[in-house]
Amino acid sequence: MNTEISALFTIFGATGDLAHRKLYPSLYHLYKKGFIKNNFAVIGTARREWSNDYFHEVIADSLKDVVENEEELKAFTSHFYYISHNVKDADHYVELKKLSDQLDEKYQTNGNRIFYLAMAPQFFGTIGDMLKANHLITENGFNRLIIEKPFGHDLKSATELNEQLTRSFSEDQIYRIDHYLGKEMIQNISAVRFSNMIFEALWNNKYIDNVQITLSETVGVEDRGDYYDHTGALRDMVQNHILQIVALLVMEPPLSLNGNDIRNEKIKALRSLRLYENEKDVINNFVRGQYTAGNDQAGYTDEPKVNPESSTETFVAGKIMVDNFRWAGVPFYVRTGKRMSQKDTYIHIQFKHVSMNLFPTEGVEEVAQPNILTIHISPLEGFSLRLNTKRVGQGTEMKNIRMHQILDEQTVSNSPEAYERLLLDCLNGDPTNFTHWKEVEQSWRFIDFIRNAWDQDEEHIYEYASGTMGPKESYDLLHQDGFDWIEFNWSTKYKKK
Ligand code: NAP
Repeated sequence: MNTEISALFTIFGATGDLAHRKLYPSLYHLYKKGFIKNNFAVIGTARREWSNDYFHEVIADSLKDVVENEEELKAFTSHFYYISHNVKDADHYVELKKLSDQLDEKYQTNGNRIFYLAMAPQFFGTIGDMLKANHLITENGFNRLIIEKPFGHDLKSATELNEQLTRSFSEDQIYRIDHYLGKEMIQNISAVRFSNMIFEALWNNKYIDNVQITLSETVGVEDRGDYYDHTGALRDMVQNHILQIVALLVMEPPLSLNGNDIRNEKIKALRSLRLYENEKDVINNFVRGQYTAGNDQAGYTDEPKVNPESSTETFVAGKIMVDNFRWAGVPFYVRTGKRMSQKDTYIHIQFKHVSMNLFPTEGVEEVAQPNILTIHISPLEGFSLRLNTKRVGQGTEMKNIRMHQILDEQTVSNSPEAYERLLLDCLNGDPTNFTHWKEVEQSWRFIDFIRNAWDQDEEHIYEYASGTMGPKESYDLLHQDGFDWIEFNWSTKYKKK
């Protein structure tokens, strides 16, 4: 039986998309599992004038695919309360405090409070100040603030945002969500690295040739054109998700699995990334692209709410170098984009080839190939390892095989979703899978050099047709080092098994 944790949640932006799609279902799963049960309440707040009853209907709607028992649903939604207000209005917080204190008493939440800011970052500073000024931050329990990406637009704005937040909350009370860190296979990276001698012993520049990280989407910007056109793929995906993955792959073994030990190692890892301080280095090592029409789909500049003259990148490929003893000389190639041919997230660790190949390389169908460890993050979840064996029969011809462990659909659907894991971590006061300010700071430092160089250069932005894996220049980036993007139709291959 799971131990119940008492807390009062206040969700700012309770009428929004994130709350509906992610937060209510995650809270429900935690409720079903007994992590929250009797001693919890949720206050939802936003400007829309909703009644408690209507709020309950909205939550029920968000849970329609997961609820099995109406009685249980009613019991769950009875813990939810709604108040309508503008977060900029000081009176709001007086009312919020009154309701919070009542619910603290009614549900015996022991002064434990989680404030979830599911709204635009421009409001974070005001909300933090108002929570503090109006004594919504309690003395007797824990107080935790969860915030969503984007954390700033560049280092300067991120620093300002952090200064605003730290006026009211200390670093150890701030939980910055990067939902990739809540994914099963991202959490599995450390398990595979640090508990298998065959990998940890080889996890360095003596044995690893290159690392490739791909986060590809098939969708375009959909209805987020205005947000995306001011953001672009570099800020939207590389600054956070991709650099977090790089940090987990690169970091030294932590002293323990304690959150601060891991985050300290990640900070050091991010500090060891080479900064491309001049424009030429950026142009040589980072490629940006923009999708054009293809596959009966509009080009980026024809999308709604996008500037028809826009030079915002919808694709990035980059070569990241890690200047430390373990990784010197090993390129980490990363790429992400919209309207690519497959929706897929995976990491390839390509090992060096054996120093001498004894097996035939001519007149045969297959030759020995470098080993590749692949971490499949989504939609497939699992690992695969490319090995060389002898083809069955006479002779010494090679056969490349892939050993794999791919989670089946049922295991995946039963495993907690990222937001559920992260909410539970926050309830437990475990910061491991949230980004520390120093990680955010260092990531922006890295990204700003690229962004600033691109802002001076209108020339090097390449088109790619919708439904492809990005511009030709992305392939050239690897070809110049003698590598190639490793592409493999994973879904079809594994489904056949
Ligand atoms: P959204 O659907 O636009 O919701 C914004 C929420 O803020 C609404 O509930 C809105 O409610 C409320 N709001 C806006 N101005 C307000 C004000 N002055 N006072 C009180 N409430 C106000 O946005 P979202 O998609 O849920 O995203 C929320 C945050 O999470 C954003 O920072 C976004 O970047 C981030 N995020 C979202 C997702 C996602 O999957 N949706 C994923 C990652 C990160 P009213 O209009 O009723 O006031």
